Amino acid sequence: MQNFLDKQWQEVLSDFEGKISAVGLDLWVKKLKPIHINGDALVFLTPNEMVRDTVLRMYNDLLLQSVEKNFKLSQVMFVLESESEEYIEKWNLRDSENGEPLPEVLSQEVKHENPFNPRYTFENFVVGTTNQMIYAAARAVAEQPCVRFNPLFIYGGVGLGKTHILHAIGNFVYERKKGQIKLVYVTCEQFANDFYDLLQHSREKGMVEFRKKYRLADVLLVDDIQFIIGKDKLQEEFFHTFNDLFQHGKQIIISSDRPPKEMTTLEDRLKSRFSSGLIQEIAQPDLETRMMIIRKKVDMEGYQFEESTIPMLAERLERYNIREIEGVLGKLYFFANLHGKAVVDRAVAEEMLAKSHELDVSVGRVVTSDKIIDAVCRKTGVTREELLGKKRNKELVEPRQICIYLMWKNLNIPMSSIGKIFNRDHTTAIHARDKISELVKTDKIMKRLVNEIENLANKS
Ligand code: ADP
Ligand code: MG
Repeated sequence: MQNFLDKQWQEVLSDFEGKISAVGLDLWVKKLKPIHINGDALVFLTPNEMVRDTVLRMYNDLLLQSVEKNFKLSQVMFVLESESEEYIEKWNLRDSENGEPLPEVLSQEVKHENPFNPRYTFENFVVGTTNQMIYAAARAVAEQPCVRFNPLFIYGGVGLGKTHILHAIGNFVYERKKGQIKLVYVTCEQFANDFYDLLQHSREKGMVEFRKKYRLADVLLVDDIQFIIGKDKLQEEFFHTFNDLFQHGKQIIISSDRPPKEMTTLEDRLKSRFSSGLIQEIAQPDLETRMMIIRKKVDMEGYQFEESTIPMLAERLERYNIREIEGVLGKLYFFANLHGKAVVDRAVAEEMLAKSHELDVSVGRVVTSDKIIDAVCRKTGVTREELLGKKRNKELVEPRQICIYLMWKNLNIPMSSIGKIFNRDHTTAIHARDKISELVKTDKIMKRLVNEIENLANKS
């Protein structure tokens, strides 16, 4: 790989010849040594800051042009020799045999290949009643980016397919528009890391690099945007990135675990930007969708399941998100095989689900009073202090009663213990429980709210 870097670098140097003085070439440009390709950037090892700064000041445009031409990369980065150890560690650029630093092109091959997960395609995405809207919107955006639904904002709990959908859009656009459309996919965390990393080196240059990376996108996909909450500087930068792309008619697709209106400390102007396109929920799959998903997964993985186990599993795995369903199927198949059965039949499945603790399928499904409290707070906008406090305003009493009801329903603890959580006696707790039990039978809106809170608590 170093060969590739050296070879292309010679091309760059010949581009410089005749365009800058021979002294300039020897003294500065030839002091750079390309060592790595990091995402979209060619990384140079630089002997000192003077070389770096001079190159940036005098030859930046020419260098970028030539790097773009010869390496198909849009950015350059500089690592000082004094920082090189750190860089080598961070990117693991060490020869596995002799431990010597190994300046090589880690992502060279990847770079020109499709960066999206090949399994996360539209074809592999099971469409049921709970996600058909999102599928249609994502498909429309993939077929004609920048035309409709901009931004497309997808939200829903963990393991329900947000990342899958983003990658499906990416895969689709990539396959059809290779080389014509620049796709940039990041998780919010990556976006944050890039931002802080670049700013660390030099505020001004860092910003230039950062902007170059994100603002060159034709389609920007940001996964898990909720991590932006509470990070002011990052919100600010994202806002500018968003506006810049948006104004240039570029497509933005965002995923989040909650809708913009529930992103409590998110700046209003960002909230309104997010809300200006299409906001679509990706919901917990219903029975029929679960059944289709199970069939698809069994088929894709080549598992053998007796037909009658499928509706049974779909029924029993009601509370599970899709990632967990995948986990359960894998484990069932594995355990059946371990017990000498090539096919998971009903008896085996039943038996294993009954001992779900052994199967480990219920791990992560443990609801706690804390999770219920959190979910109630998030869905009703009441704070934890208010919920657990003494005040008895109507806005607080109802969420508190819902909380009590859900604790009774989900936690195997006596009413008196539930009462204690709220500093109230057990008759108050019972009253609350009965009231909400009644309401969920008669009041559709209450039923929906309670369901949503329960799902949220179960998912967290
Ligand atoms: P999220 O990003 O919402 O947490 P993921 O996109 O990572 O969830 O999905 C979790 C797993 O479930 C992935 O393996 C994904 O392929 C699968 N999955 C989610 N939704 C579907 C669907 N509708 N059809 C098939 N597989 C799905
Ligand atoms: Mg995800």
